[in-house]
Amino acid sequence: MKKVVKFGGSSLASAAQFKKVGEIIHADADRKFVVPSAPGKRNSKDTKVTDMLYATYAYAEAGNDFSKALAQIKNRYQEIIDGLCLNLSLDAEFEEIAKQFKNKAGSDYAASRGEYLNGIIMANYLGYEFINPAEVIFFDENGEFMADKTDEILSQRLKNVERAVIPGFFGAKEDGTVKTFSRGGSDITGSIVARAVKADIYENWTDVSGCLIADPRIVDNPKPINTVTYRELRELSYMGASVLHEDAIFPVRKAGIPINIKNTNAPKDPGTWIVESTCQKPPYTITGIAGKKGFCAINIEKDMMNGEIGFGRKVLQVFEENGISFEHMPSGIDTMTIIVHQSEFMEKEQRVLAGIHKLAEPDSIEMESDLALIAVVGRGMKAAKGTASRIFATLAHSNINVKMIDQGSSELNIIIGVKEADFETAIRQIYSIFVDTALEKSKK
Ligand code: ASP
Repeated sequence: MKKVVKFGGSSLASAAQFKKVGEIIHADADRKFVVPSAPGKRNSKDTKVTDMLYATYAYAEAGNDFSKALAQIKNRYQEIIDGLCLNLSLDAEFEEIAKQFKNKAGSDYAASRGEYLNGIIMANYLGYEFINPAEVIFFDENGEFMADKTDEILSQRLKNVERAVIPGFFGAKEDGTVKTFSRGGSDITGSIVARAVKADIYENWTDVSGCLIADPRIVDNPKPINTVTYRELRELSYMGASVLHEDAIFPVRKAGIPINIKNTNAPKDPGTWIVESTCQKPPYTITGIAGKKGFCAINIEKDMMNGEIGFGRKVLQVFEENGISFEHMPSGIDTMTIIVHQSEFMEKEQRVLAGIHKLAEPDSIEMESDLALIAVVGRGMKAAKGTASRIFATLAHSNINVKMIDQGSSELNIIIGVKEADFETAIRQIYSIFVDTALEKSKK
């Protein structure tokens, strides 16, 4: 068996956390490839090393003396090195970083040093080979990740390597310039490495015991999700559930490798399994609920709209020409509604309205802002009858007006639009009707 293990920033924030990680790795000989993040927060008031690096670089770029700020970052690493009693000096590395900052090497280079240095410490601590991602993970000149080239070179590089540390978050363009993924991108590196070594499992270690059915800031003590499919997770993370970077699914999905989200501070907890597909019945009809605020609906009316060929295209063309992507598009016989992100739409609002009037000549256009979208996701919904009716009955009982409904043909999710003020109550009610009710039934 071969496992790739990625550890998040809070799992590597201090020497004490490093020791927990060391124990986890040594407890299972299959944990052969380790992908570390940069040191995260040690407590709620602390600053992530990545944020310190971005800030220090901005300060340096503006021509200031950044030596003190860089020394603070060095201290964070020195504390870890001392706490682990390692015979390791990062002096030469920090001299090089200072030189590169003066040469304006770029904020991607700066941020990437967080993972790079933590990788050096981790490799030294474990006695594993260190692999520089800049030599094996590639981006094209536009900054797009090159999946196939990376897979080819990385799998070749790791072919005869027994155990290695590959820092997360970055790679390089073909000309050697360092390039990072977006924030939280070490999750993607872990997935890339798992694909390259054809791992059996990609373990993603963080500070929670997996994904929860709903946001714990909204629902008290939500139940964990034991198993979720890639597609379900994609729907949930798109709508704001944030345990894993949303792009981290793609490399392992290609290779059919399951992801196991685990908790460094509670390693015995089973965590969440993210899989291609499963026969395992979910304990509830729904797998998860997620949602986001900040949407706006544009309702367009025109008599006989349905018979007018090209009406929808003309409307969508206006959005396209203004560079606005739409989220949903429910329609009736004489009406069509476009749901967009309010922040994207606001500044172009009048241009879009004028464009629709000019191109599609509707009878009227009305707008409604401050909407929230809620996604109720679950592979179990396909087989269950009455899911939608349960959702809408509970919302009606709570006096919540449903503004929009969209159910994909896959029957994997139902999207509901409500006023922002009803958002939290709606999520709590939906959670309760599926999870609490099922729990009560099972007790009887
Ligand atoms: N250190 C980077 C960040 O804070 C990447 C990561 O942790 O995945 O975003």
